[in-house]
Amino acid sequence: MKPDLAVAPLNSWIQTNGKPLIIAGPCSAETEEQLCETARQLAALGSVHAIRAGIWKPRTRPGSFEGMGEAALPWIQRAKAETGLPFAVEVATPQHIELALKYGVDILWVGARTTVNPFNVQEIADALKGVDVPVLIKNPVNPDLALWVGAFERIAGAGITKLGAIHRGFSTGEASKYRNIPMWQMAIELRTMFPQLPIIGDPSHMAGKRAYLNELAQMAMDLNYDGLIVESHIDPDKAWSDAAQQLTPAAFGEMLDHLQIRQLESPDREFQGAMEQIRVKIDSVDRQLVEMLAARMSLVEKMAEYKRDNNVSMFQPDRWKEILETRKQLGLKLNLYPELVEEIYKIIHMESIRKQTEVMNSAPVV
Ligand code: PEP
Ligand code: MN
Repeated sequence: MKPDLAVAPLNSWIQTNGKPLIIAGPCSAETEEQLCETARQLAALGSVHAIRAGIWKPRTRPGSFEGMGEAALPWIQRAKAETGLPFAVEVATPQHIELALKYGVDILWVGARTTVNPFNVQEIADALKGVDVPVLIKNPVNPDLALWVGAFERIAGAGITKLGAIHRGFSTGEASKYRNIPMWQMAIELRTMFPQLPIIGDPSHMAGKRAYLNELAQMAMDLNYDGLIVESHIDPDKAWSDAAQQLTPAAFGEMLDHLQIRQLESPDREFQGAMEQIRVKIDSVDRQLVEMLAARMSLVEKMAEYKRDNNVSMFQPDRWKEILETRKQLGLKLNLYPELVEEIYKIIHMESIRKQTEVMNSAPVV
């Protein structure tokens, strides 16, 4: 995978004056009144840069509300005229794209259920050839980074440069208090691969419940995301889709007021000096960590040679149990989260087994 994407900077297509991009709006456009009133109240907050609304809704079961479709597009035109704000809509087919562009939708997004399907994404890419429109791509439903990256490559391959990622969390089957587990590491990996690609947090679809929105939005800010997309509805409890996770525009405004916006850097000299000193120490500790790992692994190698020459099995369950317990206890005494020590030791143990297999399958030195 060659990680290069031609990405236009966010401020080349939407003006946020250096602030995080804020997109808000209802999960779905339900009625003209609901959409226009929500948009008006959000615009009145003064900190929202674009309005979102679902027109075509991918629903798990047929028969549930599947969006108003083309009928809602003139409402968007009215809401745009009344608020002066650009509009973002989810598109899943070439026909959605054609209609959205015909009615002047400004930003398109690809939903999580579409990103999972490369056929679908390629159809969307083909329909976008020759069009200059910002496209945001939600992470696929399942935690597969390559699938997300592939979608960017397909859309970029159609000549779209105004690109952004929406991190909305993943469905893994694991029990969680969240509707979709964030797995922040996935977005961090995406950022590492494509540092120039804007990442927008979608705390609404991660949370599934209003109560968790603040902590998730703050985490996105703490990780230096470029913006947020949040579902907001004038009467959330009566929303036709995603009722439990939507906020009134007023509650959303309050949430924004309490959000701590972090900077990537600080110009403060004292801060910079302190960071520099701590980083030098961290570099030194990291060097020792890696050297210690290498030392441990070379002991494992020696042990494997003895085991091989004496025909002793390489996996010793009692010893492994003892290692795990004593290291976790030690970690606990040193204020380390026990799961951290456990996870690290599982990785070390796997590598130790791999190394021992290598040695045991090699010919003994005679
Ligand atoms: C939505 O944004 O309303 C939506 C359907 O989200 P997702 O694609 O993340 O499920
Ligand atoms: Mn929704």
